[in-house]
Amino acid sequence: MSKFWSSFVSDLVPYVPGEQPKLTKLTKLNTNENPYGPSPKALAAMREQLTDDLRLYPDPNGDLLKQAVADYYGVQRNQVFLGNGSDEVLAHIFNALFRHDKPLLFPDISYSFYPVYCGLYGIGYDAVPLDEQFRIQVGDYTKPNAGIIIPNPNAPTGCLLDLDAIEQLVKGSPDSVVVIDEAYIDFGGETAISLVDRYPNLLVAQTLSKSRSLAGLRVGFAVGHPDLIEALERVKNSFNSYPLDRLAIVGATAAFEDREHFDFTRNAVIASREALVEQLQGKGFEVLPSAANFIFARHPQHDAAGIAARLREQGVIVRHFKQERIAQFLRISIGTPEQNQALLDGLNGL
Ligand code: PMP
Repeated sequence: MSKFWSSFVSDLVPYVPGEQPKLTKLTKLNTNENPYGPSPKALAAMREQLTDDLRLYPDPNGDLLKQAVADYYGVQRNQVFLGNGSDEVLAHIFNALFRHDKPLLFPDISYSFYPVYCGLYGIGYDAVPLDEQFRIQVGDYTKPNAGIIIPNPNAPTGCLLDLDAIEQLVKGSPDSVVVIDEAYIDFGGETAISLVDRYPNLLVAQTLSKSRSLAGLRVGFAVGHPDLIEALERVKNSFNSYPLDRLAIVGATAAFEDREHFDFTRNAVIASREALVEQLQGKGFEVLPSAANFIFARHPQHDAAGIAARLREQGVIVRHFKQERIAQFLRISIGTPEQNQALLDGLNGL
């Protein structure tokens, strides 16, 4: 607190990201990064960009990358919005499309940045409870709203809604924008981008941080009707003209074009996830069904905070949330088979 702060700043409750430890020896299973590196073609494209051209500003529209995303999903370039990570894309979405009189709806257990953006932009919200199985029931989202946002698969539960359920959600609120945050969709779900041409109120957000292993590059995007994209461009161009630098534009484009590497790494993560779920179940854990690159698990006999502390002592970090309903769960990112083994070893003797 300082006398220079406005009451607005004093009242902000910022998001707290997962720890990025300085110690490199740790087995880091706490922030849902991809355990495999990015496409070698993306790395090569970025190395090639390391020239005197860096004295020049990047393309403010990132058209090269917009076109690559548009080609990949079979949409038009004016249906694609780019941002510095999907967190920035989401921030612009909240600012541009959710500031109306009614409350925004999102699940009570969900991405903890949503209420933070609501605080930043003065948006009222209703947190809609997940059901007893920690699932989203789309029928609960039909009340009057200024918009709806859900992650699919949900975070931190990993639970997936199928495309029919997403369509029902979008159809149920035709007068407000429904945002599907697909940060983890490539690990077992079906994207709702195939629906955007039919529903002008549907906006799909994705990131290159997870399935394309580029969390450090900070690239995210949204796909939807050109009118929604234009609203986002208006906000973006009132804030920062150049959210993506020269390296990010070429690196992300090359990553999108390298389908082979993408398929290889995501399939490896999916296979490791299935193996790890079985092994954890063998140790007595209850694991929610996951379509993401993480799992959400609890042990009926052991306190989650205690397990997290014990793992940490053995150099393995996982994420524990204090929120009451999920305080007995751990969110564990899927690592390489070796990293997953380190986790299992850390749990020995439980
Ligand atoms: N949405 C969800 C559901 C997430 O878990 C994350 C990662 N923390 C993001 C969006 C943001 O990812 P990024 O900013 O790296 O694109």
